[in-house]
Amino acid sequence: MPLSTAAAGSKRLNSIRRYLVPARVVNLCFVIVLVSSTLLTWREVVVLEDAYVASQRNTLDKVSSALDRQMEIGVNALLFFRNAMRAAVQTPLASEVLENVQVEFAQQRQQPFWRISVDQRRTLPITGVSDSFVARHPLLSRNDPQMHNEMTAALEVGYIMRLATAIPAMPKHAWYVSRAGFFLSSQPAAVSAESITHYERLLAQPWFTGQSQHANRFRGVRWFTSAQLAGQQESIVTVSVPLDYAQYWYGVLAIDYAFSSVKQLLAEALRDEEQGEYQLYNNNLERVVTSLPAGVQPRTFTPAQREMLTQAVAQRNSGSLRLGPTFVVWQKLDHFDGLLLRIHTLREGLQGDFGTISIALALLWLLFTAMLLSSWVVIRRMVSNMYAMQHSLQWQAWHDPLTRLLNRGALFERAKALAERCQQQQRPFSVIQLDLDHFKRVNDRYGHQAGDLVLTHAARLISGGLQGEDLAGRVGGEEFCIVLPGSTLLQAQRVAEQIRERISRKEILVHNSQTIRISASLGVSSAEPSESYVFEYLQRVADGRLYLAKRGGRNRVCAEDADQEEPNR
Ligand code: GH3
Ligand code: MG
Ligand code: MG
Repeated sequence: MPLSTAAAGSKRLNSIRRYLVPARVVNLCFVIVLVSSTLLTWREVVVLEDAYVASQRNTLDKVSSALDRQMEIGVNALLFFRNAMRAAVQTPLASEVLENVQVEFAQQRQQPFWRISVDQRRTLPITGVSDSFVARHPLLSRNDPQMHNEMTAALEVGYIMRLATAIPAMPKHAWYVSRAGFFLSSQPAAVSAESITHYERLLAQPWFTGQSQHANRFRGVRWFTSAQLAGQQESIVTVSVPLDYAQYWYGVLAIDYAFSSVKQLLAEALRDEEQGEYQLYNNNLERVVTSLPAGVQPRTFTPAQREMLTQAVAQRNSGSLRLGPTFVVWQKLDHFDGLLLRIHTLREGLQGDFGTISIALALLWLLFTAMLLSSWVVIRRMVSNMYAMQHSLQWQAWHDPLTRLLNRGALFERAKALAERCQQQQRPFSVIQLDLDHFKRVNDRYGHQAGDLVLTHAARLISGGLQGEDLAGRVGGEEFCIVLPGSTLLQAQRVAEQIRERISRKEILVHNSQTIRISASLGVSSAEPSESYVFEYLQRVADGRLYLAKRGGRNRVCAEDADQEEPNR
């Protein structure tokens, strides 16, 4: 491996190692566990919500199917009336009774109001208005040649209508309103001048005008909801179908829908379930009926919620929507021009099975998180204590406790590494060996404690003269070694001289007001690029020169060997 790549690799490894201190690793592990547990819980919540939505839709589906079946009865009855009437228009019964109806009509048609009752026990009476009324009204006409057939057909269907509206599940009010100036009602009122306004009112109803060939091109069943009246909780809904034969529009068959039974069905559906509310809406999103008992205010939507609902409903036949704390599921009906809504609030949801599971899940998560956090606090504290202890042990292993400088072993290890690096980088490398002069005398005169104090001061003065990568260590009793990577012999000699001077100038307080001065002798050695960088060798050389400094009279620096020193002597 090339040297630079290996260096870069080890540098990266060191920075990773520095980054991955135990406290950080513990934090990271706990964050991973916390995030994973939160994600898992979140996933559970999502699954739970899906199941909740599915169950809500399922419930709504059941109710809307039952409702559809009930609506179907009315729609089928209406279609049956139309088919029967069409057949009767095409082939009227050739009965004498019906022929008499024609005679009676011919006699009465000029009257402002009139009634033809065939047999009140068998069929419904026909109530009509005058020719002049018909002539005035733009939608009416008595010019159709089949008009007599229509009238007898109405009497025949009146017979079925009368029987049908007596069946319990059937709508209670049915009409046939003809464009030839007469009508038939399953609940006929007594004939009077009132009958004219009644007929006029029927002609003005949207369920009549809305069945013209122009308004209802497909000629199918249509639902009409009258606007909600003040104080009235539910609207009146009418389902109607036009009667056509041979391209001619004869009139409209209509049924007033009995929503009390729908309301009962919705209320019964709720009884088996948890709480909530059903609301039936028409296609204009106007509320038609609710499952609530009379007097209880149904839930309403804000304009913004209504807008959201309108958009969602326009896109799909069934679905679900969360509107604030309310959950709405909807389903369009097959036999009603509208949709059924199931509304559930968050509070109601929490009271049900899903709510219990959700609360249990949330509590479990909270418990787990609390346990995780408390164990994190404990483990964090343990790890940082251990880390601090490890540091202190490491420091003690590498340092001299009295002077706080590196001890002999640590200094040698680091100095060797520095020497190697300097050799690789072709930089000079110098070593200073220092010994305090007559130190034994300090001990003898002022005691061992004073000696220790002097050692501490000397160490402080030595390390005060160091810079950058420089190292200093205590290598013997009162012997110190200073390592100067990158310094030449001359530079090291200068540093040694400065240290010597600082030591010799320092007054050290040993006993109360007693101060002493000390001195030191220093030996300097250096490796230039072409020489040996072996640290032990350089230290030995420096020690030799220290010895020379002692011999030379102490308190001095020696940077040369004895034979080179001779000419100066
Ligand atoms: P020289 O100028 O020749 O170096 O004379 P010296 O007295 O300094 O040399 P010597 O080696 O005879 O004395 C060193 C003394 O240092 C001996 C020992 O009592 C003392 N010493 C060594 N370690 C400690 C220490 O940790 N604390 C104290 N107070 N004294 C120490
Ligand atoms: Mg000594
Ligand atoms: Mg000494």
